[in-house]
Amino acid sequence: MVRTRFAPSPTGYLHVGGLRTALYCYLFAKKNKGKFLLRIEDTDQERFVEGAVENLIKTLSWVGLDHDEGPMLDGSEKGKFGPYTQSKRTEIYLKHADELLEKGHAYRCFCTKERLDEMREKQEKNKLPPMYDRTCANLQKSEIEEKLKAKIPFVVRQKMPYELIKFKDLVRGNVQFDGKIIDDQVLIKSDGFPTYHLANVVDDHFMEITHVIRGEEWLPSTPKHIALYKAFGWEHPEFAHLPLLLNEDKSKLSKRQGDVSVESYIEKGYLKEAIINFAAFLGWNPGGGEEKEIFTLEELEEVFSIEHVHKAGAVFNIEKLDWFNWKWQKEIFNKKIFTLAKEIDKKIEIDLSRKDQPKFLFTSEDKEEKFIEEKGKILLEICRKYLDEKYLSDKNIFKMLVTVEEKILRDPKETSSQIDFYFSQPNYSKELLTHEKMGVDLTWAKKSLEESQKDLEKLDNWKISEIKNVLTKIVERFACKNGQVFWPLRAALSGLEFSPGVFEVMYTLGKKESIERIKKALAKL
Ligand code: GLU
Repeated sequence: MVRTRFAPSPTGYLHVGGLRTALYCYLFAKKNKGKFLLRIEDTDQERFVEGAVENLIKTLSWVGLDHDEGPMLDGSEKGKFGPYTQSKRTEIYLKHADELLEKGHAYRCFCTKERLDEMREKQEKNKLPPMYDRTCANLQKSEIEEKLKAKIPFVVRQKMPYELIKFKDLVRGNVQFDGKIIDDQVLIKSDGFPTYHLANVVDDHFMEITHVIRGEEWLPSTPKHIALYKAFGWEHPEFAHLPLLLNEDKSKLSKRQGDVSVESYIEKGYLKEAIINFAAFLGWNPGGGEEKEIFTLEELEEVFSIEHVHKAGAVFNIEKLDWFNWKWQKEIFNKKIFTLAKEIDKKIEIDLSRKDQPKFLFTSEDKEEKFIEEKGKILLEICRKYLDEKYLSDKNIFKMLVTVEEKILRDPKETSSQIDFYFSQPNYSKELLTHEKMGVDLTWAKKSLEESQKDLEKLDNWKISEIKNVLTKIVERFACKNGQVFWPLRAALSGLEFSPGVFEVMYTLGKKESIERIKKALAKL
């Protein structure tokens, strides 16, 4: 059975690269009806961060990546291969370090820091690779015993075999390293705790991991790991090293150059569907000419395959995340309003000629009004956290939001600036009322606005369809273009060059305010 693991060091937050690794491990396991494990690699006790593990589990679970085995939020563990936290497994590692010492695949190194620094300095001067010179690998048994008795601190080093180490990486293909130029890795530190290398190999073996899927930065460690498997007489798992994540300038993605924590994106209000979709495409695509980019987690479980993971580094592009977020907002929103429309009006007709923008034809105006109100409530949930009291307490807020729905779905942070014109009479110069290309000069603007004012004043039933009726009749009467009537009105009502639809804005402002704004515009002319 396929068994994968996500093995983060608990640093306090989940790096986007970590999320991508976790996701690929999860998808590969699900696709192959296997198990996905979470293992906490906390051998570096100096870097202990309070609450980091809980945070990790919460974040993974929030995006939908629940593990089959590993530590749980309540402190318990799931699975029979535990403990799944390395700091609870020290005994196991020490026992295995002893085994390596006995078999001659490792040795104790008593060199002091000063000696190692000196050695490195010399190597640097002579342009040699920085490697331990194996002084302690040649100590006599009696010398070792003496040093142990004298309680001289030591580390345990792996004795790298001087041979070619070859393996087939599932992403990178055939890879080989010359063991002769690989440093003798420390396996047990002088404080008696294991390093990542030993713990990682021992755990992957005993947790029966079949596929190690991890970031490319671990590729240089892999020959050391393979040598360890061989030293223990174990078969090594398959390896798949995922491409590096890069900034736009192709440098390695780091915390310094912007936000790399998943939590910060969650806080900013990004949807989990978008975050997962985005992470999936960081170094993978479905291949086979497939153009579809919007996938649910369940769909990804179906289509994911390691063969379509790229070798080249993947650029982390925030605009792409924003794009996924917009698409997902729309997808979720459309589903909701679909259900809503059918609930409000059983006999509704739905025009689906534009899939991403369904049109609803209600059987009565009341039902349509109810729909606008309810739709506004859904929109408010998307942008509520970005609006202050002034907006939230306005009784017209739902109607207002509906007029800028596209903008909210695209960037909810900008909602207030989009609806500000409803709250205060706009300031603009009279030139805004004109539009040369459309054939609207100052004289025409005046004439057209006067006409609109006159007819709208007579309208009692202030409904979108009625407003539309009145204005269309003016266009017919003048035998002019829509824009010649709508443009000056739009500017008069909103003070904006580009504003939402003129009927909807008028409906939302109400009759009195609309007429007042038209009068104000006329006063400018
Ligand atoms: N603990 C390592 C990390 O923090 C895991 C590397 C691996 O998956 O082997 O990324």
